[in-house]
Amino acid sequence: MALLDANHLTKTYKNVNAIQDVSFSLEHGKCVALLGPNGSGKTTTLRMLAGFIKPTSGDIAFDQDSLTKDFRNFVGYLPQFPVFHNWMTGKEFLIYVGQLAKLSKDEAIKRADELLELVNLKEVRKLKISKYSGGMKQRLGIAQALIHAPKLIILDEPASALDPIGRREVLNLMRELKKDATILFSTHILNDAEEVSDEILLLNEGHIIEQGSMHELESVQNTVTLKLAFSEEPKFIEDRLKEIESVFKVNQIDKDYLLTVHDLQTARKQLLEVVYQENWQLTKFEVAKTSLEDLFMKAVKK
Ligand code: ADP
Ligand code: MG
Repeated sequence: MALLDANHLTKTYKNVNAIQDVSFSLEHGKCVALLGPNGSGKTTTLRMLAGFIKPTSGDIAFDQDSLTKDFRNFVGYLPQFPVFHNWMTGKEFLIYVGQLAKLSKDEAIKRADELLELVNLKEVRKLKISKYSGGMKQRLGIAQALIHAPKLIILDEPASALDPIGRREVLNLMRELKKDATILFSTHILNDAEEVSDEILLLNEGHIIEQGSMHELESVQNTVTLKLAFSEEPKFIEDRLKEIESVFKVNQIDKDYLLTVHDLQTARKQLLEVVYQENWQLTKFEVAKTSLEDLFMKAVKK
């Protein structure tokens, strides 16, 4: 079976329905993004999976073969707002966390060294955490979540609050981790989801409104916007573009032509053929917007 199946999860806080009838599976070895605007229920979902809060109804089934005796060893969790002991060094912190996770002192030291290497903090291991940048702190937080080598890594908005450099560091680390781990992470930033995840769960107002691989989600909508520009405006260009089978909408904004097309591969081929036949002087050919962006914007704007 999948590593985990969430079945009809619902979570109600007093009179707030934070999560309503949410179901999904996490396959072994996948990196899955829980994508949604603020308040859509991401943290609530992750906290239920990590065992911090109980669903009001519904259940979570884990792959029995992967389950460890102590459930806490099954998941590693990075909260949205992690708290560090800032007076400790990075290495001291990981040794401390290791001992909390019931490792012996020697094991904890060994594990701390391995993790510092993995998250690329070896050089600053003796520096106090208070001196760390945002990206370093998040990487230390990820190391902390990995201390007991969990089967499932849950990260709540690991890159969202960081500056571009920190964000890059964390996304690169996630790309490394996903080679041999199952990761579920939340984000409200579409680009972060697109960049590292194999699959997306799109959450809005407590419901999953779409789920699947990036490719599947794009083909659900089945449209892509292309942006074209020419050094000289060709004659009858609009009519000629509209004749192309895979193009079903043409808009002009300043010098750019925005084409809505059904299937990117076919559209590209058909368009370039026409450009070649008509000898148009093409200066720009870009995929301007994916349908996932449209989908996400609709969800956020509601
Ligand atoms: P996200 O992580 O996507 O921003 P949350 O899971 O934190 O969303 O919150 C989902 C909804 O549940 C929001 O409306 C939020 O205000 C509400 N909520 C979250 N935690 C609590 C709580 N402890 N008590 C009451 N309402 C809560
Ligand atoms: Mg949250």
